[in-house]
Amino acid sequence: MNYDVIIIGAGSMGMAAGYYLSKSGKKTLLLDSFNPPHNKGSHHGGTRIIRYAYAEGEEYVPLILKAQELWRDLERASEKELLIQTGVLGVGKEQSDFIQNIITSANKYSLPLEVMDSSEVQRRWSGISLPNDSVGCFEPTSGVLKCEESIKAYQELAEVHGATIVTNSKVREMSVERDRVTIKTDEQTFYSEALVVSAGAGSRNLLAMLDLDLPLTPVRKTFAWFDANEKIYNHQSFPAFAFETSHGIYYGFPSIDGAGIKVGRHDGGEKINPDISMKEFGEVSEDKGDLVQFLKQHIPEIDQLKYGKTCMYTLTPDEKFIIDLHPKYSNVAIAAGFSGHGFKFSSAVGQALSHLIMSGKNDIDLSPFSINRFLDEEK
Ligand SMILES: Cc1cc2nc3c(=O)[nH]c(=O)nc-3n(C[C@H](O)[C@H](O)[C@H](O)COP(=O)(O)OP(=O)(O)OC[C@H]3O[C@@H](n4cnc5c(N)ncnc54)[C@H](O)[C@@H]3O)c2cc1C
Repeated sequence: MNYDVIIIGAGSMGMAAGYYLSKSGKKTLLLDSFNPPHNKGSHHGGTRIIRYAYAEGEEYVPLILKAQELWRDLERASEKELLIQTGVLGVGKEQSDFIQNIITSANKYSLPLEVMDSSEVQRRWSGISLPNDSVGCFEPTSGVLKCEESIKAYQELAEVHGATIVTNSKVREMSVERDRVTIKTDEQTFYSEALVVSAGAGSRNLLAMLDLDLPLTPVRKTFAWFDANEKIYNHQSFPAFAFETSHGIYYGFPSIDGAGIKVGRHDGGEKINPDISMKEFGEVSEDKGDLVQFLKQHIPEIDQLKYGKTCMYTLTPDEKFIIDLHPKYSNVAIAAGFSGHGFKFSSAVGQALSHLIMSGKNDIDLSPFSINRFLDEEK
């Protein structure tokens, strides 16, 4: 079967790309090992934080502001509420890169941001406890994305625009010869003129088939929901949060519709083979204890653990994304290595992938996310 574009991996980035490519009139096929949204990749768990004054560096801000605009477009097109504006509170030491990057990003792009000392944070949100030397950066316009709902919305709209989605079909082999792409699953062979590889933790193995060895490391991550005092922690009055503490970086979500506080740890995690199922939440002895020690110290009005889950990050060495064309094939676009902070960008990444496929360039600068930085390192 022949297509204009094949997308391998119909998850966060791939499904959005499928929408933009099919909307542009491209005959698009999306292939996935499972049936997205699903719980075997990086996109499950109900919610993802979206913030604009970016702690990871100001170079992300143009892309995230584009993403914000496109999330609102998706809400309008799908008639679904996907982005809840809870505000996001970043907490850390005043001189840390984490806090300084938030402030620099906000200043440079005139983003609303309230910077406050620890006593002001505790006065505004009685459910937070902080050491005296912490500061808080509250971004009122940021919030929470419904991740699986967003992927479903892109899926439905992509299908309306004529995209074909073949699920439960793992790609086993692929090759590119000029404008002839050949993709094989166990059951079928597909052909196209162009290719998008957006396969999350599976990207490294797939790209090796196209002579590209990218330093992508899948790691096991855990997150969990805890019963919480709803009067304090409900999403109408409590923000999503990211805390850089002396133990590590923790993030969490207010209780949305009584679901409880959801919390996870951003740094660390065991390296895994993405083709082998990972240990469930609780099978590693520290899973619960690590989150509980953070909550007891900083979000103290919580009660029992409800349940926990595991998910994957795919890390690059500098924890920045890869969004680029293949160095050898100008008809192959790659989006990989989202290092545990990519979901909020997926609307803009999907659009960028469609632009790369159609014209080789994007209106938002993608140079911070180029493949070259790893190829140069090897020289
Ligand atoms: C616990 C957790 C919390 C997070 N919190 C946040 C947050 O608050 N904010 C934020 O912005 N980001 C967050 N992230 C990160 C974000 O979710 C990821 O960066 C993003 O989902 C990655 O998207 P992806 O498209 O690369 O991967 P995925 O969404 O996993 O999609 C990849 C798809 O490729 C498919 N695939 C793989 N191999 C093959 C193959 N051989 N053939 C066919 N299909 C294949 C998979 O089945 C999958 O569907 C979090 C991640 C985790 C795990």
